[in-house]
Amino acid sequence: MNKPDSRRPVAAIIAVGTELTEGIRDDTNGAEVARLLVFAGFVPKRHEALPDDRAILAARIAELTASHDLVIVTGGLGPTHDDLTREAAADALGLSLVRDPRLEARLRPVRSRHRLEQAREQVMRQADVLQGATVLTPSSGTAPGQLISAGIGHLVLLPGPPHEMRPLLAEALETLAPGRRDTPWILGCVGISESDAQVIAERTLDQHADIRLAMLARPALVDIVLIDEGAGESGLDVATREIADALGQRCYATDGATLAEVVLREARRRNLTVAVAESCTGGMVAEELTSVSGSSDVFLGGVVAYSNRLKERLLGVDGEVLDSFGAVSQEVAQMMAEGLQTSTGADVAISVTGIAGPGGATPAKPIGTVWFAAIASETRRAIRHEFPGDRAGVRARATATALDLLRESVLSPRESFR
Ligand code: ATP
Ligand code: MG
Repeated sequence: MNKPDSRRPVAAIIAVGTELTEGIRDDTNGAEVARLLVFAGFVPKRHEALPDDRAILAARIAELTASHDLVIVTGGLGPTHDDLTREAAADALGLSLVRDPRLEARLRPVRSRHRLEQAREQVMRQADVLQGATVLTPSSGTAPGQLISAGIGHLVLLPGPPHEMRPLLAEALETLAPGRRDTPWILGCVGISESDAQVIAERTLDQHADIRLAMLARPALVDIVLIDEGAGESGLDVATREIADALGQRCYATDGATLAEVVLREARRRNLTVAVAESCTGGMVAEELTSVSGSSDVFLGGVVAYSNRLKERLLGVDGEVLDSFGAVSQEVAQMMAEGLQTSTGADVAISVTGIAGPGGATPAKPIGTVWFAAIASETRRAIRHEFPGDRAGVRARATATALDLLRESVLSPRESFR
C-alpha cells in the first residue's frame, strides 16, 4: 500500500524568527507548510525554528540543502534590519544578491511612503534576489518569495506572514510538483476515534495499490487523508467512496468541507433554519457557524446562557428543574433547546451544557460531562458525553459534537435519535 519513504523526495522546513525560538509567537507556518508538502508528495523530515541570526541561518541552510530535495524557509524576508534570510541564503549558497528591476518598480510606491532615506533604502532590500532565483511575486504584501536550485535539490524562501506565505508556497509547489492537487482526498470524520478511523481506512486500502494514508486528528474530529502515489484520480475516487461507505454517518464530507459548512449547506438544501443555546461552549458553536460566509440565511443566532439566571430568563428553563437536576442535566439541556426554539422559531434548535473543568465536578458529573439536546420538527433528542482532556479540549470536543448533532438533526429531522 505505501511506497517506502526512500522513493519520495525529502524536505526540511525552517521557520525563521527570534519570536519563534523564544516562544513569543507560535510557528503555525511550519505545520501548514509540512501538511502541504505531504500532499504534494514530499516527506518532511525536519521542521525547526531558528532565530534571526545570519550565521546560524546560513550554516543550517547549507547543511539542509546538501541533504534534502527541498528546503523551505519562511520569514525574515521583510525590509527591517532583523530580516536576514536573503543574506543568509546567499552566504549559504555562495551567491550574490542582485536587485530585480521588476520588483524594484513594484516597491517604488512603497518606498515613497517613508521619509527617512534609511527607511527608503530598507524597503528596497525586498527587491534583492539570489542570483539565478525564480521570483515568486506576491499579489498582496511586499515581500516576494524565491525559488532556486541548491545543494541536491531546491531552496524556497517565503515571507513570514501566513497570508503572504500561502499563495507563494502554492506557486512554488506548482513549479516543483506540477499537476499535483493541492487538496488531497480527505474524508472528514466526527465522533470516531483516530484508531478506529485508521483501521477502517486501512481495511479498504488493502484492496488498493499506490494510495498512502495519513491521519490528522483534532479534538473529536479526524481527517483521513489519501495521498496519490500512482493510483490516479479514479482510483482515489473509488477508495474514497468505499471508505466513506464503511464509515457511514461518521464521515461528514469527502470534499474538504468543514463540519459547520456541511451543517449550513444541508440545512439550506432543506430550507431549514437553525439556532444554538450554549453554556459551556460560550459561543464557540455560533462562532464556527458564523465563520462561514453567507451563513445568515440558515443560522438565526444563539444564546450564550452561562449562568443559571440567564438560562431561566432567556431560555425559560424552570428554576426548580435547575435546582433539582443541576444545570448539567438532560432536563435542563432539553429545556434550553425548547426555550430557544420558542423564542427564535428555528426549525432546528440545539443546546449544550456541560462541565469543562477544572472546577465544578461532582462524583456523578465528572469534568467533561456534557449534555446536548436537539429539537427538529417533532423530534426531541438528548445525548450525554464524558469527554477527556482539559478545559480547552472539552470545549473543543463539545463544539464539534454540537455541530454533529446539528448535522444529524438537519439530515433527519423526523427520525428519532440513533
Ligand atoms: P514582513 O515583511 O512582514 O517583515 P517577513 O518575511 O520578514 O515579513 P517576519 O518578519 O519573519 O516575516 O514575520 C512577520 C510576521 O509574520 C510575524 O510577526 C508573524 O506575525 C508572522 N509570522 C512569521 N513567521 C511565522 C510563523 N512561522 N508562523 C506564524 N506566523 C509567522
Ligand atoms: Mg520581518
